[in-house]
Amino acid sequence: MSDARTSRAEALRGLTLPAALLPEDGRFGSGPSRIRDAQMQALSGLSRTVLGTSHRQAPVKQQVARVRTGLAELFSLPEGYEVVLGNGGSTAFWDVAVYGLISARSQHLTFGEFSSKFAAEAKGAPHLEDPEVLAATPGSLTAAVASADVDAYAWPHNETSTGVMAPVLRPAGAGEDQLVLIDATSAAGGVSVDVSQTDAYYFAPQKSFASDGGLWLALLSPAAIARAERLAADGSRWIPSFLSLTSAIDNSRKDQTLNTPAVATLVLLAEQIDWMLEQGGLAWADERTRTTSGLLQQWAARREEVTPFVSDPAARSQVVTTLDLDEAIDATAITAVLRAHGIVDIEPYRKLGRNQLRIATFPAVTVEDTEALIAVLDHVLDATA
Ligand SMILES: *Cc1c(COP(=O)(O)O)cnc(C)c1O
Repeated sequence: MSDARTSRAEALRGLTLPAALLPEDGRFGSGPSRIRDAQMQALSGLSRTVLGTSHRQAPVKQQVARVRTGLAELFSLPEGYEVVLGNGGSTAFWDVAVYGLISARSQHLTFGEFSSKFAAEAKGAPHLEDPEVLAATPGSLTAAVASADVDAYAWPHNETSTGVMAPVLRPAGAGEDQLVLIDATSAAGGVSVDVSQTDAYYFAPQKSFASDGGLWLALLSPAAIARAERLAADGSRWIPSFLSLTSAIDNSRKDQTLNTPAVATLVLLAEQIDWMLEQGGLAWADERTRTTSGLLQQWAARREEVTPFVSDPAARSQVVTTLDLDEAIDATAITAVLRAHGIVDIEPYRKLGRNQLRIATFPAVTVEDTEALIAVLDHVLDATA
């Protein structure tokens, strides 16, 4: 460590931030992310009638129904598409897809941790051929290439580990029997999308939807549902019941899950969906995250010590902003002083190992709190300059 960097880090350690500068809510993490107080109050209001009651009875099934109809409205669900859910989060959905959506071979775009993990699952599956993997270095983006050798294309809408956002469009020249599987875990609900460009647009509730983890949700096209039914019926592979997509489809149609869901997660999710719809739906959420992430990018442009990690402006995420700091400044010293003041989870993705800030601007993050965070960061950088 250089002397300048060490002495700056020491100066930061003793820094006390003026209370007036602090954001109202200090949670800027990329997931689990901030839950609004109104969601918690709604949850508390259901503490005797829904929480702690059977998931096979109407009160809980009504929460599942709220989630399914709310998502259908939020995403202007195309004709024939269905909202399907199950337990285990997006990580479980990768295995659901490996068993129930990929016939023989998939193509994966990998440009960060999450996209690489799905590719690794497809590679490990003994019943599948090794996938085609089109890799880009973290911080950049790559595009799907039509290939007659694959039956599914997979990439993330937003690679949360790097803050790279990808277009969601069927690859030019893709066949009608080839599925497009989009990991929308952090983008869904915060970024506009045309769901008809996908066959599975899947996500978990702890990011843009401001709920807790443990569930996966997928918007499935008729082609995806038909693929799942064919793979389950043809007996060509053993499908673990917990990972069976056809079983999830059957249960979802009855507003339930295969096994017990996290009921509180469902309630918080339903509340957030309703709130988004009241605000103006996905177009409103998209506008808000553009504004808040835009404020961070404008700040980076203003500060010479700060450089966007994603060099291509078109690939910069609206929901996860990654900003590299000059080597003379120790990012861990900055995040530590902010954490001591209740501003949490703006550390970079751990495996990326960069001198970086990673700041989520999901729809629950207000413009005012983003401005306050920027004022705090200015204060800290100026105090140690
Ligand atoms: C968070 C995240 C995941 C993992 O979600 P879990 O619900 O924890 O399994 C997968 N993909 C992306 C893009 C994510 O942001």
